[in-house]
Amino acid sequence: MAKRDYYEILGVPRNASQEEIKRAFRRLARKYHPDVSKEPDAEERFKEINEAYAVLSDPEKRARYDRFGHAGVEGTGAGPTGAETAWDFVDLFDFFSELFNVGPAPSSRRRGRPRRGKNIQVKVTLSFDEAVFGTEKEITFRRREPCPRCQGTGIEPGTSPQMCPTCRGQGKVRHTVRTFLGPMTQVTTCPTCGGSGVVKYPCQQCRGTGQVEATVKKVVVIPPGVDDGYRVRIPGEGQPGENGGPPGDLYLNIRVKPHPYFRRQGHDILLNLTINVAQAALGAEVEVPTVDGPAPLRIPRGTQSGDVLIMPGKGVPKPGGGRGDQRVIVHVEIPKHLTPEQERLFQELARTLGTEVKPQGRSFWERFKDWFMP
Ligand SMILES: [Zn+2]
Ligand SMILES: [Zn+2]
Repeated sequence: MAKRDYYEILGVPRNASQEEIKRAFRRLARKYHPDVSKEPDAEERFKEINEAYAVLSDPEKRARYDRFGHAGVEGTGAGPTGAETAWDFVDLFDFFSELFNVGPAPSSRRRGRPRRGKNIQVKVTLSFDEAVFGTEKEITFRRREPCPRCQGTGIEPGTSPQMCPTCRGQGKVRHTVRTFLGPMTQVTTCPTCGGSGVVKYPCQQCRGTGQVEATVKKVVVIPPGVDDGYRVRIPGEGQPGENGGPPGDLYLNIRVKPHPYFRRQGHDILLNLTINVAQAALGAEVEVPTVDGPAPLRIPRGTQSGDVLIMPGKGVPKPGGGRGDQRVIVHVEIPKHLTPEQERLFQELARTLGTEVKPQGRSFWERFKDWFMP
């Protein structure tokens, strides 16, 4: 029976690049691999494809084939019996790693040392009160989880490990290499099965890794007292480890929304409070907001603008117990507009203080200051 043209077998033009030849080979090999193909003549076709690829992927053999046809490459390892030894082992390796749960990635996983899983960072935004008193938050993040299809085994359900098609279960392969002493046969560990003699069919959902990227919902406890920029560590909730290594950690990166009037300073809470001249001079009992709700605050007589009044224990809970303080920063407001009665009273006040001001209005200089100076 006349042999078919190698270019025709791979379905590529005679001037095809190495990349095109490789692509065509992979596509056909996948289609006609006897273990996966349903075609009746798959085995024959598979051999033919291998043989064609063995010649066309080798520039030297391809050149001889182009000049002399099949005769040019007969007996160089491209013949029907030589098809197996003529495999390009690198390609074979790649090819089976796609088809089976073997190859560079899984085998490096098999050989690798235990590695701790990576940490996961999740941003959590809290209200001011949630940060002060702690809270529970439902967070959503992406993490690799055991594959639901194969239960994390990486093996396609309903399949069982098969005899390795490359070494036929021997775990070793022979191939002929040319040396200056002539052709020599080398025996090496089978690259497809890593010497075990069996291959596994990878799970279609996780491609044999046993893990899939999944969305995880989790309720996390935020302890009291955290602040903007804090990181809360939840051990063991990061990515799973590799090769039996421990999982990574989950980090909550805390953001706190600003409050309309409270500010944080460590475990203390700062509050600005405006009082009027009379309250400052005479003292007063006022009600101020705290994180626990409104609370009474005594303003002592003679309080100055800028004075800080301490409300003990009204601050942020401390990790070791106890709480910080609320620090109230007082601003004394000087009235900008006076009623006639207030005007009269201030004049009287001025007189008692010995700094009487002319009642018939303000001087040019005073008006000038109002306009041009803050
Ligand atoms: Zn799976
Ligand atoms: Zn093998």
